[in-house]
Amino acid sequence: MNIDINYLLTLSERKLENFSLISHLSTFYKEIFCYFNECKKEIEISNLSNVKFAQQPLWNNILYQFKGKTICFKNWIASNILYTKDLFDENGNFKTLQEISNTLINKSNWLCEYKILKKVVTKQSNMFDMKCCIFTKTTPVNSFNFNSGLNCITDKKCKFFYENMLSKKFKYPCYQSILGRNFCVSKEYWCNIYRNKIKLMYDKRLSEFNYKLLNNILCCNSFLQKCKLRENAKCEFCGNENENIKHLIFDCDNVKGVWQKLNIVMNYDVQWKHIVVGFYLETNSRIRFYNTIISYLAYKIYKFKMKSRIENIIQEKFMLEKSIRYSLEKDINFMLNLSKTCMFKDLVKLLTNLL
Ligand SMILES: [Zn+2]
Repeated sequence: MNIDINYLLTLSERKLENFSLISHLSTFYKEIFCYFNECKKEIEISNLSNVKFAQQPLWNNILYQFKGKTICFKNWIASNILYTKDLFDENGNFKTLQEISNTLINKSNWLCEYKILKKVVTKQSNMFDMKCCIFTKTTPVNSFNFNSGLNCITDKKCKFFYENMLSKKFKYPCYQSILGRNFCVSKEYWCNIYRNKIKLMYDKRLSEFNYKLLNNILCCNSFLQKCKLRENAKCEFCGNENENIKHLIFDCDNVKGVWQKLNIVMNYDVQWKHIVVGFYLETNSRIRFYNTIISYLAYKIYKFKMKSRIENIIQEKFMLEKSIRYSLEKDINFMLNLSKTCMFKDLVKLLTNLL
C-alpha cells in the first residue's frame, strides 16, 4: 500500500484491535503507534482552520467513526484517497459517485463504503468551507500536538512520552479541594505539600501514613461505622465524642498531652492544619524538622491506637506517651540523620524527657 510512516504518525486511533491500517505489523509496533496516539491531545474540531480540517487523514482517525469504530477502506487507500481534501471537488462539494468511480481502481463494496464515508465526513465538514481543498497541500510534519503542547518528535526520548502520559492520566486527589477550602491553601502550594509530606519524608512508612491522612482514608470509628462494621462512631476513650481522624490523632483526651508537650518544645501552637498539610510556605531545615517530628508523632499515635484495638487494650494516656517516648529514644538518631535535621537533637531530647 501507498502508506508511509509520516502518514501513520498523523493518525489518532488508540485501540489496537481497531487500527486496521497497521494490522500487518507485529503487536510490538502496533502498541507503539497506539501509545504514541495516546500521548497526543484530543483533536478539537472547533479549533481547526479550513485547511487543517482538509488535511485530516481519513483512515483510523477518531474524527471519523462509524458504529463506534474508526474507518479504514483499503481499496480507497490503494487509489490514493488518503485525506479529507481528496473527497471534495473544486466547488467544495462532496465528490459524486461518478467522480469517485473514476478514481477507484478496485471497486468491490465501494457503494456501501461511499455511503458510510459521505455520512461521517459531511457530518464534520458542514462547519468548514471546503473550497480550500483544491489548493490544500499535505506535507510531512515532525511536530504534533501533545498534552504538553506542540512538540517536534525528532529529538524526543522515552522520558518525554512518559511524562506526557503521566500528565494526561493525572487527576487531582478528591480530598484536596476539601482540605484546600478548610485550611485556606491556595492551589499553587499543593506541590510543596505533597513534596514535604510524601516525597521527601525520610521514612516511607511516614510517607504512606501522610498520604492516607491527606486523602482522609485512615481507619477510625466514623469510617468503620460507614462500612457497617460498628454500630456507632463514638470514641471509646472520651465516650460522647464521635471519632473521626482529627479526633483520633489530635482532639482525643488521651493524645492532647503529646501535642501540648510538642508545643512547649517548639514554642509554637501546633494546629490540626499543621498535622495534615504541614508547613509549606518556606523550605529550610527548621521547617523540615517541624514537618518530620509532627508526622512522626501523628504516625506513632495512630499506630499505638490501632495496635491497642487489635490487642483489645484500653488506650490509656500514660501508656500512649510511654510508647511514644520509647519509640523516640529508639528512632532519634535514625530520624535526625535521614531527615538531615541533626541540629535539633536537643529539642527531641527535651520532648522525650517531657513525655
Ligand atoms: Zn477520644
